[in-house]
Amino acid sequence: MTALYITVGAIVGAWVLAYYEAGSRLWTIFFAALLGAILTASGAGTLVMGIAFAIFAVPALIMNVKSIRAKVVTAPVFKGFKAVLPPMTSTEREALEAGDTWWDAEMFRGKPEWTKLLDDHKAAEYTAEEQSFMDNEVNELCAMLDDWKISFEDKDLPEEVWNFMREKRFFSMLISKEWGGLGFSAYAQSAVVTKLATRSLAGAVTVMVPNSLGPGELLMHYGTDEQKKHWLPGLADGTHIPCFALTGPEAGSDAGAIPDVGIVCEQEFEGKKTLGLKLTFSKRYITLAPVATCVGLAFKLYDPEGLLGDENKSDYGITCALLPADHPGVEIGNRHFPAAFMNGTVRGEDVFIPVDWIIGGVEKAGGGWRMLVECLSAGRGISLPALSAASSKVAYRMTGAYSRLRRQFKTPIGMFEGVQEANGRIAGYTYKLEAMRALTASAVDVCSPSVVTAIAKYHMTEMMRTVTTDAVDVHGGRAVQQGPRNYLATGYQGIPIAITVEGANILTRNLMIFGQGAIRCHPYVFPEMEAARDDNLSEFDNLFWGHIGYSANRAVRALTYGLTGAAFVSSPTNGPMAKYYKQLTRMSCALAFTSDVTMGVLGGELKRMENLSARLADVLSELYMASAVLKYYYDNGETAEDLPHAEWNLQLSLFNIQTAFEEFIDNFPNPVVARILKTLVLPLGRSYKQPSDKLRNKIAAMMMEPTALRDRLTKEAYFGTSEDDVTGRMECAYNSLLAIEPVYNKFLKAVGKGKATGLTITEQLASAVANGIITQIEADGIAAFDKQRFDALATDEFTKEYIATSGKVANEAKIEQIS
Ligand SMILES: Cc1cc2nc3c(=O)[nH]c(=O)nc-3n(C[C@H](O)[C@H](O)[C@H](O)COP(=O)(O)OP(=O)(O)OC[C@H]3O[C@@H](n4cnc5c(N)ncnc54)[C@H](O)[C@@H]3O)c2cc1C
Repeated sequence: MTALYITVGAIVGAWVLAYYEAGSRLWTIFFAALLGAILTASGAGTLVMGIAFAIFAVPALIMNVKSIRAKVVTAPVFKGFKAVLPPMTSTEREALEAGDTWWDAEMFRGKPEWTKLLDDHKAAEYTAEEQSFMDNEVNELCAMLDDWKISFEDKDLPEEVWNFMREKRFFSMLISKEWGGLGFSAYAQSAVVTKLATRSLAGAVTVMVPNSLGPGELLMHYGTDEQKKHWLPGLADGTHIPCFALTGPEAGSDAGAIPDVGIVCEQEFEGKKTLGLKLTFSKRYITLAPVATCVGLAFKLYDPEGLLGDENKSDYGITCALLPADHPGVEIGNRHFPAAFMNGTVRGEDVFIPVDWIIGGVEKAGGGWRMLVECLSAGRGISLPALSAASSKVAYRMTGAYSRLRRQFKTPIGMFEGVQEANGRIAGYTYKLEAMRALTASAVDVCSPSVVTAIAKYHMTEMMRTVTTDAVDVHGGRAVQQGPRNYLATGYQGIPIAITVEGANILTRNLMIFGQGAIRCHPYVFPEMEAARDDNLSEFDNLFWGHIGYSANRAVRALTYGLTGAAFVSSPTNGPMAKYYKQLTRMSCALAFTSDVTMGVLGGELKRMENLSARLADVLSELYMASAVLKYYYDNGETAEDLPHAEWNLQLSLFNIQTAFEEFIDNFPNPVVARILKTLVLPLGRSYKQPSDKLRNKIAAMMMEPTALRDRLTKEAYFGTSEDDVTGRMECAYNSLLAIEPVYNKFLKAVGKGKATGLTITEQLASAVANGIITQIEADGIAAFDKQRFDALATDEFTKEYIATSGKVANEAKIEQIS
C-alpha cells in the first residue's frame, strides 16, 4: 500500500512540477523527498539513509550549480548539438532573422495570453483622412473603372485613370508625407486595395504593386538621403512608375539562386571615371515593367578586384539597385499577358551603373536578400489579403442577392440545401477573410510579422479560390458568360495570379510557414542555434535546461487538457466564445509539444519532409485564423449576427487542426514516437466535429438577408448604385425585391394555384388584379420589379463583329425580355 502511495505521490508531484514549469531547485527538493519516502518506507537505517543522500547530493549539486552543470552535463550535449546543426548559408540566416514574431509566437508556444490579442492589440481603425480618402478619391476611382472595357477591349487602364491615380497619389500610400506621399497605415492601404479590387483586378494590381515590395518601400526603409531626395518625390506624385525585378526564367521560388550579376568595376560615366557595377540580367513576370520609369533590380554582386575596399571579399551576395528605365542598356521588353495589368520582361547586358545606385549605398552591398525578405514580410500581409477579402465581399453580396432573386423549381435557389452548402462556405469564409485582413494589416502596422503574413497569404488566397469558385457555381451560366454584366469572371481568372505571386502557395505551405515559424516562434531553438554558433556554452546551458522544462511542461499540459477536455483552462471571456478559447489553448499546447518532439526526432530532416511540415503549418495557421475570428467577434460588439459566423469558423478550425494532427501522426516515420504523440495530443480520440449542416445553412440563409453584418462585411467594397452598372443592377433588383417580396410571393402563389392565369406575366398580373388578389398599384410594382429582376439575371450578348474586333466595332446586340 505504501508503495502505491509513493508511486501516486511521485507521479502527482512530477506532474504538478512539470505543469507549473518548476526550476531545478524545486525538482531537487522533490527528488530528495521522494528518496526520503522510499528509504523510510523500506525501513532503511540512518547509515543507509546517509549514504543514499550523500550519493544523491552529487547529481543534485551538479544540477544546481550552473558552472558545474555546464561543464559536466551540458558540454557533451552542446558538442553533439553543434555536430548535427545543419550548415546555414548567410542567405538562409538572413531570411530567418528578417521580420518579427507576433501573435504566431503566442500560439506556437502553447500558452497564449489572450488579453494581449483582445485588449493590448487595439482594433484596427482608419484615421479621418484615410476614411475620407476611401469615401471620396477611392469611390471616384472605382466609378471610373470599367473592368470589362479594361480587360477585354483596351487591355490597359484608360489614360484618365492613370492620371487620376497619379494626381491623387494612389501610388504613394506607403511613402511618408515628408516626401509627398499619403503616409497611410497598412490597414488603410489594405482597405484601398480591397475596395479597388471589388471593381477591377487590373486597377487594384496597378495600385498595389508600387505600394508593396518595390522601390518605394525599399527606399523608405533603406535608401540613402540622396536616393530619397532623388526618387521619392517623383514616386509620390506619380512622375515615376516603379517596378521591381527579382524573378527570372531560371529562378522563381528559389529567388536566392538568381543568375543575374553585377561586377564591380570602374568606367567612364557622365564624363568621369566612376566606381560602379556592370549588370547582366534577364527578368520576367515583372508587374508594371512595360510602363515603368524606374526599375528596382535584384542581382548578385561580385567584386573580384576588391574595388569596394575589402580585398578578401569577392562574393557579396544579393544586392538591390534602382535604375532609370531609360538608362542605356536597360531593355524594357515585351509584355506578358496574365490579365489586363502591365506585366513584362526586363533585360540588360553589361549595363554600367554607379555604385551609388545600390539601394542604401555601398554599405548595403550584399544586403539585398534581407531587404527583400523584410519588405516581403510586410507587403504579403497587405496586398494579397486585400485581393482575397475583396473577392469574398463581391461573392458574399452578389451571391446573396442572386440566390434570392434567381428562382428555379419555383423556389429562390438559395433555399436549396445544395446551394446553401456553397453559400455557407462563402458566408463563413467572408467573415474569416475580413477578420484576417483586419488583424494581419493591423499587425503590419506595429511590426514586420513574417510568419503571420505568410499564413495570411497562403490561406486567404486559398479561401478566395474556394469562395470565388462557390460563387461561380451558384451563379451558373450567369458567372460563366463573360461581358460587362459579369462581376465574377476577372476575379476568377485572377485566382492563379494571387496563388503564384509573393511566395507560390505550395511552397509557402510546405516549406515556409512551419519552417520559419518553428525556428522564429520557438522560445529556445533559434537562441540555442545562435549560442552554438557563438560557441557560448554558458548561454547554451541556460537555454537547454529552460528548453527541457518547457518541453516537459507542454507535454504534461497537453495531456491534462486532453484528458479533461480543457475544462479547467482559463478563458478571457465568459460568453459563448469561452469554450473555443479553451480548446484553442489546448491545441496550441499540443502544437508546442508536437513541434518540440518533431524537431528533436527529425532535426534538419524535417526540411525535406514537406508533407509533415505542411500539416504542422496547417495547425499553426488554423490557430492564427481562429484567433483572427475571435478578435473580430470581440472588436465588433459580439453581436447575435456575428455569433453563428464566428462559431462556424471556430468549429471548422478545431476540426481542421484535429485532422492535421491525425494525418501528421499517421505519417510520422517513427511509430513509437507517433504513439506517444497520439496519446498526449488526442488522448481520448477525436474531440471535434465539423460544423453542422444546420449552422452552415443558417449563415447561408443570413447571406440573403439585408443584415447589419452584411453591410459591415462589405463596407470596404464598391457596389454600383445605378441599374446600368455591373454590380448596381443586382443591388437595385435585390433592394426592389426586399420591398416587394410579400406581395410578389402572394402573386406567385396565386399563379401556382391557378388563381392568376395567363401565358405571360402581364396577363397573370391582370388576372391577379381582376381576381382581387393584388391591387393595380401592386401589380405595377411587380411589373417594374420583374423588368429589373430579368435585367439583373441577364447575361451579355455580343455581335460577332464586336468579339472579332475586341470591341473596336460597337456591340449592337440587345437583350430582350418576353413579357
Ligand atoms: C502575374 C505575375 C506577376 C508577378 N510580378 C512579379 C514582380 O513584379 N516582380 C518579380 O520579381 N516577380 C514577379 N512575379 C514572379 C513570382 O514571384 C513568381 O512567379 C513566383 O516566385 C514563383 O516562381 P515561378 O512562377 O517561376 O514558379 P516555380 O518557382 O517554378 O514554382 C513552380 C511550383 O513549384 C512549387 N515549388 C517550388 N519550390 C518548392 C519547394 N521547395 N517546395 C514545395 N513547392 C515548391 C511552387 O510553389 C510552384 O507551385 C510575378 C508572377 C506573376 C505570375
